[in-house]
Amino acid sequence: MQTTINNRSHARMLWYHTALMITITTPDHALHAAPHEFLDGQIVPAFESPARAEIIHAALRAAAFGPILPPRQFGEKPLLAVHDASYLRFLETIYQRWVAAGATPAAVIPSTFAARWMNRPCNDPLAEPGYYLFDGSAPIMADTYRIASQAANAALTAADLLLQGERAAYALCRPPGHHAGSDLGGGYCYLNNAAIAAQYLRQHSERVAVLDIDFHHGNGTQQIFYERGDVLVVSIHADPARNYPYFSGYADESGQGSGTNANLNIPLTGTPTNDDYMIALEQAGARIASFAPGFLVVSAGLDTYSGDPVAENGAGFALTQAAYPLIGARIADLGLPTLFAQEGGYGVAALGENVVALLRGFIVQQEQQRS
Ligand SMILES: [Zn+2]
Repeated sequence: MQTTINNRSHARMLWYHTALMITITTPDHALHAAPHEFLDGQIVPAFESPARAEIIHAALRAAAFGPILPPRQFGEKPLLAVHDASYLRFLETIYQRWVAAGATPAAVIPSTFAARWMNRPCNDPLAEPGYYLFDGSAPIMADTYRIASQAANAALTAADLLLQGERAAYALCRPPGHHAGSDLGGGYCYLNNAAIAAQYLRQHSERVAVLDIDFHHGNGTQQIFYERGDVLVVSIHADPARNYPYFSGYADESGQGSGTNANLNIPLTGTPTNDDYMIALEQAGARIASFAPGFLVVSAGLDTYSGDPVAENGAGFALTQAAYPLIGARIADLGLPTLFAQEGGYGVAALGENVVALLRGFIVQQEQQRS
């Protein structure tokens, strides 16, 4: 009996060490399930749903790239390295205060926003959401802070795997993170998982790069590192003049102070094809290579897929599934320890297979480089 157990655990160890890519996730993500969001003047069912992570999880299980492990617990310290303490306290407490003040228990969604010359803090529970959230697409429910922290822990656990010598790891983060700034949530995002992981890896390397391939500009990641020269942020996304988040993501935003030229935005107009996208990715890859980072964090949004429902008026990118292995392979060509953190992607039927296609492209290219 003992021998059987030892053989089993030995097999498990071998599997771990020969894993093509380890995934980190937890089924607890489903406890964060917004009933609706406020979008384009309407209350609509929330696009960012537990079904997204479930379909990715199922596709990864079938692909068998390696073990699927739960996140380790890191506490608040790595969150505070990126986010303001007052913002974390808001996320942690606002739901109970909002309900106690008589507002709907369905979800916290602000209706009055602090903006430009009207931006003094106000801690009334009905007002504070408009200070710490920039839109109506980041509803807060009872478990939101705890589950967002677990998504950050998934990214941090993946980061730890890189520090232990894994060449790559995938964090199935839900909720996503790249729209969350240091003290501002929005766009389904509360904690910036990719930024938290990048900052964590930064303690072990002089330079870290973030590559954001989500359809939407990673405005939160840009803000967090905008005045830093030690973390390069490169984002390929839809033209913000016509697409969310509208108010940042333009090509002339290149960083500030010691972060000058450490931010590269590559906005794409129209409906880019696979070929158009690869040209942009080549530009992004060249910039990352010249920065010579020790680690790469990929904000892996899959809402670039043709027909993703979140693209404005159906006018999104025209990427087919065939694009994703090419994107993964080009990322592998950088030859860096790479953390993939899940961001957007809402065309749920294809989402799981698209994530697998991206990671498979990376894995195959990396294996070819080794042999
Ligand atoms: Zn997106």
